[in-house]
Amino acid sequence: MHDQFNRKIDYLRLAVTRRCNLNCTYCGNKNRLSVSGELGAFEIQQLVRAFVKCGVKRLRLTGGEPLLRTDLTEIIERAAAVGGLKEISLTTNGTLLTQELAFTLKEAGLARVNISIDSLKPLRYKEITGGGNLDEALAGVEAALVSRLTPLHINAVLLRGVNDDEADDFILYARKNPVTVRFIELMPFSQEQNCLAPVPNSQILERHPYLTPVKPFTRSQPSVDYSATNWKGKVGFISPMSDKFCDSCNRIRVLFDGRLKTCLGDEGTVDLKPLLDDEAALTDAIKKAVHFKPPSHNFEPECGLGYTLQEIGG
Ligand code: SAM
Repeated sequence: MHDQFNRKIDYLRLAVTRRCNLNCTYCGNKNRLSVSGELGAFEIQQLVRAFVKCGVKRLRLTGGEPLLRTDLTEIIERAAAVGGLKEISLTTNGTLLTQELAFTLKEAGLARVNISIDSLKPLRYKEITGGGNLDEALAGVEAALVSRLTPLHINAVLLRGVNDDEADDFILYARKNPVTVRFIELMPFSQEQNCLAPVPNSQILERHPYLTPVKPFTRSQPSVDYSATNWKGKVGFISPMSDKFCDSCNRIRVLFDGRLKTCLGDEGTVDLKPLLDDEAALTDAIKKAVHFKPPSHNFEPECGLGYTLQEIGG
């Protein structure tokens, strides 16, 4: 499926919940979000089938925290059973990813995971995440590696004056571990985040001139990845603020309740839930919405869209 700017759209990020067990300062929601409105596993399968018909090849499950869904294994099995997807992946904070669960998810059809860790210092991790336990997140990383939910990406958002002094620690982590640490520049969603200026990725890269670019893992991946001789892992830079990649954007999102969102920086959504039982109408609505995907996001440091990524699905 192509949009009006001839971008090929084949990547769906689907939020299976907006609930989260953590409450990150820049992402969490002040109010406890409830289970109400979440799509069931069968409804998610109906959606996935329609998106595959429209040309989607890769599916990422996200949230909120997707591991809070007790039926996540069924969701993955049902998505895999649709057929036609090249890959099903997951974004998680990893704290609930036990070894047993990692094996089960792999068996259900999950190919790989991204785990979000914004600090390698236990106390700071706790502060940023509103009470999270770094050891649990690192155990999740270990479980994912053992279960071969790989290549494994660690997402880190650096916040000025909060954890930006840890860039080099993360780079050292990537040197010693078979993971790709990806620095994601903070995008301004809610008004509260606007006091947190993004840390431009170029500033980190400048300090490590020995890093050499490596081949992208997928077409249209937003991350520019680097490695160096004798490194076990890689380091990647996702720069939505300092180096927009909208021209090659191939992604769309579905929120926890079935609303389609074609651009992170656009407030508009199309409610697909009422169309679930009519596949022709559903695919038609998806194609129409995708056609009008905005050419680019317009995040400005002061823009604050009034919601957080936890609610949209990161
Ligand atoms: N709970 C899961 C997790 O922690 O990975 C999935 C949802 S979370 C919203 C997905 C990713 O979005 C995390 O890596 C988080 O750091 C990132 N994120 C949240 N708010 C962001 C923002 N304003 N700018 C950039 N990345 C953000």
